[in-house]
Amino acid sequence: MHLVPRLRSSLAVMKNPTYTGENRCVPCTLLNVVLAAVLSTAVVAVLVGIDTSVAIPAGVATFVVAIALIYFRGYLIPGTPTVTKRYLPEGVLAAFDKTPEPTGWVETDPRELLFTLGVVVDDPTMDDLVLDPAFVDAWNRSIAIHRTDESELRRSLARLSGVESTDLEFRDGPHVFAVETSDAHLANWPSRAACIADAAGAVVLPEWDPDWDRRPVAVRADLLGVLRLFLERCPTCDGHVSLSQDVVESCCRRRDVAAATCGDCDVRLFEMDIDPAMG
Ligand SMILES: [Zn+2]
Repeated sequence: MHLVPRLRSSLAVMKNPTYTGENRCVPCTLLNVVLAAVLSTAVVAVLVGIDTSVAIPAGVATFVVAIALIYFRGYLIPGTPTVTKRYLPEGVLAAFDKTPEPTGWVETDPRELLFTLGVVVDDPTMDDLVLDPAFVDAWNRSIAIHRTDESELRRSLARLSGVESTDLEFRDGPHVFAVETSDAHLANWPSRAACIADAAGAVVLPEWDPDWDRRPVAVRADLLGVLRLFLERCPTCDGHVSLSQDVVESCCRRRDVAAATCGDCDVRLFEMDIDPAMG
């Protein structure tokens, strides 16, 4: 009676989580499926000369085993991620990237908008841009509430994304904090701390931005994301946040990023791709 769920769960156990499921790399998988087809065709070609009656079944069997290996292990040939990284052009890899391009930057530069709203101001002593001290106070108070009160976090995220707070589900992974509903993916943050900062900011920003409620969600997300660049203290542990340039290795790509990281708990608060040609 419970055979199907049991079968499904025992199959799931066999899967290598590093290269399957959420972590499955589309370019690597496609490359491996092509290799599986080439391999099976080669098996048929070799066997046809020896015994035609076994050639086709052997080719089919090879293909089935190869696809099963790709399904369970994520790849057919060990070292595929490295092979893909080395031989597939960057443009092809970028086309498979699941991260959507930031939207809203064209019509509204979030940095300029924050400056217009008075959230970001000139610092006369340092010749730099800083947050208005009154905004920092309000944001920090809001962060303190969102850090300890999960229902508050849910309420603010629900208001920001326009869904019921009871529908929200959190998934805390090693490099991603995902917020989803049972049937839709809403947003990813580099960490829970980054999500707390945005939820807290989304409560404070409307007091400074009379048009907040009319702005598209993508623009609000951009504004909150830029604010995170100004964080000096970690939203979860109060550690010192520092900016750095970093290289992030995904399955088959290397990306140069500008990153804000907590020096104490090591969580990532902000990450943005930078064009190596501009660096
Ligand atoms: Zn921290």
